[in-house]
Amino acid sequence: MSNLRNVSFNDLFAEVKRRYECTKRPAMNVIMIGPPGSGKGTQGPKIKDDLCVCHLATGDMLREAVAKGTELGKQAGDIMKRGDLVPDELVIGLIENNLSNPECERGVLLDGFPRTAVQAEKLDQMFVSKQMSIDRVLEFAVDEDVLGERIEGRRIHQASGRSYHLKFNPPKVEGKDDATGEPLMHRKDDTREALGKRMASYHRDTKPILDYYRQHGNLRTFNATAPIKEVEGHIEKALYSNMI
Ligand code: AMP
Repeated sequence: MSNLRNVSFNDLFAEVKRRYECTKRPAMNVIMIGPPGSGKGTQGPKIKDDLCVCHLATGDMLREAVAKGTELGKQAGDIMKRGDLVPDELVIGLIENNLSNPECERGVLLDGFPRTAVQAEKLDQMFVSKQMSIDRVLEFAVDEDVLGERIEGRRIHQASGRSYHLKFNPPKVEGKDDATGEPLMHRKDDTREALGKRMASYHRDTKPILDYYRQHGNLRTFNATAPIKEVEGHIEKALYSNMI
């Protein structure tokens, strides 16, 4: 509590107002699933703000661990650079440790997790124990021919996970994050070589879990090859229209 005394009145008031507005939104837990470059990183921050949920992106958390040189980062760095999946227990631990964050009180947006059947099963167990439910699974279905260009031109703001594209979604100032002005970076695994591996793992490990969610009736699939604004519309419909 005491650290709130250091927050300016305007910031505190804006945050109270934001949280009050959030109470009018439906509380929801959402999973985003899609291949690399399908737009999860672009749409995630918008969905997070719209639903007032926390955004748990395992790729962002791992990149942060690599940048900080933590034990987890040392274990994950080379695996990520190659485009392979890091061991299940490492990412499961990340989600477990963050699911109870105060920011996740109104729900959670999972980005890049679960990616394997083991992770999906473990997530079910975590949700049951916390009396949470998976309300929507959003499948970003994309024409794979566009992915090479999308990831080669992708630039990210490491601290926030905000995503840009040199051609399709450029920042206001070249090379700088719109919100903070901090430099953007090109991910080490955003290469055509690593993309091949990441796609293979998407087809082998991740696609089967879509069938599982399809059977449970909460999967929504939409065309993520469309322009960003159009995808936003698909997502809005997927989130707010009634379940089938
Ligand atoms: P992303 O930012 O989601 O594309 O993730 C970047 C990289 O982090 C992946 O290619 C994996 O090496 C690793 N990673 C992220 N999430 C997971 C996960 N759920 N399971 C295993 N590896 C992951």
